[in-house]
Amino acid sequence: MPDLKIDTPFTTQTLQKLVQINSINPGLDPDGPGEEEIASFIYDTLNNLSVPCDIETVSPGRVNVTARIAGKGDGPSLMLNAHTDTVGVSGMEDPFSGRIEGNRLYGRGSYDMKGSIAAILGTAKAIKENNIQLKGDLILSFVADEEHESIGAQALVNKITADAAIVTEPTDLNLCLAHRGFGIFKITTDGKTAHGGRHKQGVDANMNMGLVLAELHQLSQRLPDENTHPLCGEASLHVPLISGGRSLFVYSNQCTIHAERRTIPGETLDQVTKELQTVIDRLSNKHPNFRASLETEIWRSPYEVDSSSDIVSATKEAATEHLGKVPDIIGHTWWEDSAIFGEAGIESVIIGPKGGGIHEDVEWVELDSVHLLAEILYKTAINFCIKEG
Ligand SMILES: [Zn+2]
Repeated sequence: MPDLKIDTPFTTQTLQKLVQINSINPGLDPDGPGEEEIASFIYDTLNNLSVPCDIETVSPGRVNVTARIAGKGDGPSLMLNAHTDTVGVSGMEDPFSGRIEGNRLYGRGSYDMKGSIAAILGTAKAIKENNIQLKGDLILSFVADEEHESIGAQALVNKITADAAIVTEPTDLNLCLAHRGFGIFKITTDGKTAHGGRHKQGVDANMNMGLVLAELHQLSQRLPDENTHPLCGEASLHVPLISGGRSLFVYSNQCTIHAERRTIPGETLDQVTKELQTVIDRLSNKHPNFRASLETEIWRSPYEVDSSSDIVSATKEAATEHLGKVPDIIGHTWWEDSAIFGEAGIESVIIGPKGGGIHEDVEWVELDSVHLLAEILYKTAINFCIKEG
């Protein structure tokens, strides 16, 4: 194992303070305060480390912090990224305690992903204190709203770019090179309202939706055979919401569902829309009274980084050195901000600490994995942005 360069007490204390600041995303919980307070804490911490940084209000109460450790200007730039918001705390006993028990630090956001914020700040401290001069810029970005609409990451890529990024979402120190995307689609069937006793006049929108649901069920059963990815597993489809009809004794005039389609790398909006439209067209041809429409409500692309890219080899090399073994290469089944960076031309990998209880009642992060993550980020920055001399 190489010598530790990271100030581990600083990293642990910073993590504890980060967890003690409530940064629940107000898009998920109307009482959530957003990222203003946590962003000012990060801003102050970076100022104390003499790292120049900017604080930007993306929308009221929603704040990004971006810092830059300038390189000499003739090397590739790297961005270390984390989100500062968390999901809600209902069901949690003491969500903002930051209590430490052995190797675990507890509280909402400890694992997803304040451990990673602390690791990035520990990396910045080590770069400054060891007077490391890099050729390329090292950018540190702390963004709002990943847990809801990603307005933070979106605002960030409108302002800055980098040659590559490490998104430090939790991976248990495995190296994640791909993740699934998702689309939310609204399908509406239109019927014809009529008195329940006048069956020749009425067209039942709810029964017609049943035809759609039967087809979607079949499609969801076929997806694992037809659409799989070596790292992310299979594509999937379910229907989280349904609503239809007005009253008893009245033919339903309208029924609406929201279908959630999880995509694997390579799948496009065009393909997935066509797949759903084909279902509707087939039913329209078969049943004279069937009328339905399809709308895309949300689309988040899947992502996969080119495994031969420099950021993959730099991160893998640093992780291997600090873990004492080659990290496992994995994919995530959920979506992350890396897709936004990838679409903006910033090649991104994902590596983060070990822990548990993500979005659950008891959440924790393993402290030694936060320190190891900081070491890996520090070494990757040196490998990728190229240390002078
Ligand atoms: Zn997260």
